[in-house]
Amino acid sequence: MGLIQLTERICYLPHDPEVDRPMLAYVRGDKLTLAIDAGYSAGHVGDFYAALEEGGLTRPTFTAITHWHYDHTFGMHALESISIAHRRTNQFLAQQRELAKDPAYLRGLKQEDVHFRREYGEQEQVTVVLADMEFEQELTLDLGGVTARLFHTAAPHSEDTVCVHIPQEGVLFLGDSTSEDFFCGGYMDQDKLGRLMDMIRGTDCRFCILSHCEPLEKEDLLAYLDTVKEQI
Ligand SMILES: [Zn+2]
Repeated sequence: MGLIQLTERICYLPHDPEVDRPMLAYVRGDKLTLAIDAGYSAGHVGDFYAALEEGGLTRPTFTAITHWHYDHTFGMHALESISIAHRRTNQFLAQQRELAKDPAYLRGLKQEDVHFRREYGEQEQVTVVLADMEFEQELTLDLGGVTARLFHTAAPHSEDTVCVHIPQEGVLFLGDSTSEDFFCGGYMDQDKLGRLMDMIRGTDCRFCILSHCEPLEKEDLLAYLDTVKEQI
């Protein structure tokens, strides 16, 4: 599986439903480059870097983390870039790092989640690290000819949700933000979904990118979320 070109400066390694790996994206500036999400494991990071090499692309300068869930962050220790996360994401990761010291925690994750079992196989250890840089509200990176705006937003999926807007390319990366909170019994908070939809509506973009889906046109995503909202 190789990279797919989305716009002139943005490509991505698609999500993999077999292991529930999220998509990993790459934004190419003239000076600096940005990846979006670290991935599930060292193996996932390795596959992404191999695909970048095949495409003649350098290692990302930065890696922005959309939220703390393990399929997006447990590859962080294998990154060769500066990782950036919301302050709350680092707090969640610090908890995960403590939990992961007990081998029973990893065994539990494998039992609960078939995808985790597939991704980690016989491996008996996970390495959890925190992001190198953290921010609270918003952070803008000038990559050279293109900017990336990382910002915290209300979302039903997790309280540390970070979205990444690339205005020049008309792309908004949403992580898993539109889904329910699987770590809170699959609860879908109507108010938070409404606020997230307002943010999406107010953002100037053509594509909305969810980590476990194909890229969507903004209007198609909003129409879909309207139907979700009606069913809550
Ligand atoms: Zn998630």
